[in-house]
Order: sequence, then structure tokens, then C-alpha cells
Amino acid sequence: MQDHATNGGYVHTTDLVVLGSGAGGLAAALTASLRGLEAIVIEHRLKIGGTSALSSGTVWVPDNFYLRAQGVENDRQQATRYLASLVAGRGETAMWQAFVDNAPRMLADLHEHADIGFRPYLTAPDYRQDHPGAASGGRPLEPLPFDGRRLGADFSRLASPLPELMLFGGMMVTRGEAMQLLRADRSPGAMWLGARLLGRHLRDRIRYERGTRLVLGNALVARLFKTLLDRRVPVWTDAHSGRLLERDGKICGVDLRLEEKSITIKARCGVVLAGGGFPANASWRARHLPAPVAEHTPAAPGCDGSTLDLALSVGAALGPQGLDNALWFPSSIATRSDGSTAVYPHIVLDRAKPGLIAVNQAGRRFVNEAVSYHEFVRAMYRAHGESPAIPAWLICDREFIRRYGLGLIRPRAPSLHKYLASGYLRAASTIADLARKLGMPAEALQSTVARVNGFALTGVDEDFDKGGNLYDRSNGDANVRPNPCLGPIRKPQFYALPVLPTPLGTSLGLQADTRARVCKASGEPIPGLYVCGNDMQSAFGGEYPGAGSQLGQAMTFAWIAAQHAAGANLDA
Ligand SMILES: Cc1cc2nc3c(=O)[nH]c(=O)nc-3n(C[C@H](O)[C@H](O)[C@H](O)COP(=O)(O)OP(=O)(O)OC[C@H]3O[C@@H](n4cnc5c(N)ncnc54)[C@H](O)[C@@H]3O)c2cc1C
Repeated sequence: MQDHATNGGYVHTTDLVVLGSGAGGLAAALTASLRGLEAIVIEHRLKIGGTSALSSGTVWVPDNFYLRAQGVENDRQQATRYLASLVAGRGETAMWQAFVDNAPRMLADLHEHADIGFRPYLTAPDYRQDHPGAASGGRPLEPLPFDGRRLGADFSRLASPLPELMLFGGMMVTRGEAMQLLRADRSPGAMWLGARLLGRHLRDRIRYERGTRLVLGNALVARLFKTLLDRRVPVWTDAHSGRLLERDGKICGVDLRLEEKSITIKARCGVVLAGGGFPANASWRARHLPAPVAEHTPAAPGCDGSTLDLALSVGAALGPQGLDNALWFPSSIATRSDGSTAVYPHIVLDRAKPGLIAVNQAGRRFVNEAVSYHEFVRAMYRAHGESPAIPAWLICDREFIRRYGLGLIRPRAPSLHKYLASGYLRAASTIADLARKLGMPAEALQSTVARVNGFALTGVDEDFDKGGNLYDRSNGDANVRPNPCLGPIRKPQFYALPVLPTPLGTSLGLQADTRARVCKASGEPIPGLYVCGNDMQSAFGGEYPGAGSQLGQAMTFAWIAAQHAAGANLDA
């Protein structure tokens, strides 16, 4: 990178500027560097990683080389059938086809040339088993654990995960480990795992603010960041971009402020927008998300739509409005001890388990509780049109919480007092009393619970088919028969927890072409302006095919953008 000072401030010249340091932005900068370009990542927050660093880090890549190594040869055709059916009429075919074509190439390239490694989740089925071509596993990939100590002093620049998703005030565990630890009172192997993880964590805490054994999205971001550091790609934080620079109709850089200095970054090959969409911007949410508009999000606070504003100011267009313009988690809300708000996403640990139901304000179920988080919230909005279902109430008994936990409450929590006292959780000794406390008709909730208790005996949910497919069952309790997702709610105390729709990301974004170039309303690309991640209109038309489809999309279009900027032939 060349630097020089002018009267108006500093000028840097590089090849590619990337705005945003999530998995999308970092993957774009890394790919650019691998192709011989100079790149720089600009992050407007103090910490690196965006929502990606808070996430589970799963990356959905059909037809990946791990699947091929297992002898699966036809996944590309199957994934094509799946997306054709799921996305039909909602997203542009060419865009999801570009994803299918390039996701395995991105994965192989970053694995081979930059050691960005994953392991396949062979038992993580796609979310929409009702569509042809849905896989039983193998498309979602989990980041390999990363030792944060390898980052040296830069470890402190990495964003921390959501505190509620860590144990013992800063220890990360994978989903598989969390499932194993649930059995720590019954299995010596699980107990030993717990002891090992805790031992490492306690040693870490002597020197660090949190554990250094990173997993999930934090491991993915840390690994990308470390690779950039090794390749001497700068990542500037607390740097605020004011406007995109344009010359002869081409985007050629950005003006920004860093530590009170004005800096112009000239970019020979263009600018990549990777700001993570607008989940954290209340006025964008009010304009584009369904009512009642979500007030909270578990996404990173920096995802405020500012990159979208930059693009709109140079003539870019947003994609077409979708069904709801967001990707969703049902979340419960609490106040942390420092007064900040905890948004706890109910991803997979409780809803699908046996002995939990979700009801609307009328005390009636409205959904198969085991569907994906995205479909669960969509069902809340649909149901709300008929009878209030926002918030929806998760109902269970004490035995359920002891076994599986509920939201913020960990399994085997000895006392629920603080959750009850804070109003996070409601309790009563009969279902009728619980209903009265929630302001719903007692007979309705009683009859709903009695009916589901009957289904638990037969194993068939005649109303919503909870546990009726592979995806539901993968998150149930395999030890429970006849249906791993159905169990009775029968032993007092009885509990209720309210959940709200919260966007984990947004699906309405900048209109782009298959080369990840930002487009005008006419469909014409804006030379030099690229987009990836949640800044880009969802290639899946706002649908959520399986675990990792957001990060899979982000990294794939990041890779495409950088390849194109480097002049690579993507058709080869
Ligand atoms: C708890 C949780 C778990 C999740 N798990 C998964 C999962 O396992 N798999 C999956 O696929 N998806 C998951 N998601 C969703 C996924 O994390 C996001 O969709 C994804 O991280 C978006 O990546 P991105 O690169 O577009 O944006 P981000 O990772 O959010 O990064 C965007 C960055 O850009 C910065 N930025 C914004 N504007 C500017 C600007 N003007 N200048 C400079 N910087 C700017 C932001 O501060 C932020 O750091 C999860 C989400 C949550 C909340």
C-alpha cells in the first residue's frame, strides 16, 4: 500500500477496499490477497468480526469436498432441486445458481491456499425437509476450533461472542459439546470432556479476559483474521467511511475518518461492501420489517445499514421486497447485571425437545415447535394476524428445565429464583393458574396441554406434526420414544417464557449480479462496486435452506467479488 500526505489529509492507495470485518469482508480481503491484490479491511466498530463473530459459524456448502470424500457424487444436482423448489419465485435463479456453482470452489480455495478449515456436520439435516433435494446432513460445515493465543496482542481486537452463549463467564463450547455436556451427570465421557474444557478455561482466565479456545463463529473470524495478519493485510477499526469515490463512472475508493484524521483510500480495483445489512438500525427495521416491528436483535450493533446508504448514494438499488426481508430467531429478552439487554436466541437447544409447547395469547398452539428458528418466527407473524402470537409463550414443566434448560436457564439449574424474580420466567403450580397469570383462557391452555400429553403417548402430533421429520428429530432427545420431540407437561411447577421475533440478519439488500457487482435499478452493474453477505439481496430470496446458509452465501459472494476484482475468469 502506498501512503502520502496531502494538504487535505492522508491518501492511501491500494487495490481493493473492503468495508466490514465479518466473515464476508474478511473472506473478500483474503481472496483478494491470495490472487495477488493489495487489500485493506475497514471496520467502523472497535472490534473485529461483526455478527459473524457472534454466530455459530456454520457454513452451508452443498457438493463440498468433504461430502465427495464420503462418496456423495450427486449433491450438486440434489441441491439444485432443493433450491429450485424452495426459492422458486422468491429469489433470482441465476443468483442461487451462482452460489451452487461457486460455494464448493470458495471452500476448496480457502482450505487449500489459506488453511481455512472446517469439519462437516454429517447429522445436521437441511431445514426444509418438505422440499425435494433436502439433505440429511453434510452440507453444513463447522469451523475448526482456533487457539486465540495465536493472535497474540491482536486477540483483544476480536469481538467477544454473546455472553449468554458462553459458559462460566467466557468459555465457548460447540453445539456437539453442549449436547454432550447435557449428559455429564450420566456419562463418564461427558464428565471428562467438561473437566478438560473447564481446566483449560481456568488456566486461560489467569491471563485473559475470556477463554482462548475459540469455536463457532469466533473461531471462523479469528482464523480469517490471523491469515490476513500473516499476509500483512491491514484491518483498521474505528474507521468511519463518509463517501464512496467515483471517477469516470467507476467506484475507485472511499473517504474516511480515523482518529480525527481524514483519509482517502484510493482503490485500483474497487470497493466491497460487507456491512452486514441493517438488523441493528431501528429506522431501517421500521421501514422494511413486518409489524409488530422487532425492537431487538442478536446481530452485531455495527450492522446499521450505513454501507447500504453509501451504495444508494451512488445510484445502487435495493433488491425487490421479500416476504419479510429478514432472517429470524425467536428470542427471549433479559436485562444483564450491567443494565444492557440480553437477546437470547432459541436456536436448537430447547424448542424441539420433548415436553415443550408454544402457544399464542389464546392458549392455543400455532406451530410445530421444532421447525427452524426462521420458520418459527414466520409462523408467529402468520398466526398473529388471526390471534395475538407476539410474544409467543414457551410452556413446559420443571422436569423439562432440569433436563434441557430453557433459554438463558441452563440444564440442572438448582434454582429458578432469579429468573422468576426478574420476570424473565413465569411460574404457577397448575396449568390453569399459569394461564391466568399470562392473561389467557385457562380452559384453552388446559385442553392444549392435555391434547399434547396424549400425543406424547402415541408419538404422533396430530395438529402440527412435531417430530415428524428428520430435521425436527435431529434436535429432539433420541432417548425419548416413541417421538423424540414429544413429551408430557405434567409435573408442577409449570413455566412460561415469552419469545419475540428478532432479526439475526436481513435479507433485503443491494441488488447484485452473479459477479457480486452492485447494480442500479436498471440492472446495470456499477463498475468497481461489489457486495457480499447481508448487504447483498439474499440469493435465496429470504429463504433459509439449512444451517450455515447465511455465512455460506456471505463467503461465496465475497470470494466471487474478489476473484472478479482480480480479473480471474470465473467461468473457467
Ligand atoms: C447468534 C447468531 C448465530 C448465527 N449463526 C449462524 C450460523 O451458524 N451460520 C450462518 O450462516 N449464519 C449464522 N448467523 C447469521 C450470520 O452470523 C450473519 O448472517 C453473517 O454473520 C453476516 O455476515 P456479514 O459478513 O454480512 O456481516 P457481519 O458479520 O455482521 O459483519 C459486518 C461488519 O461490517 C461492519 N460495518 C457495517 N457498516 C460499516 C461501515 N459503513 N464501515 C465499516 N464497517 C461497517 C459492522 O460493524 C460489522 O462488523 C447467526 C447470527 C446470530 C446472531
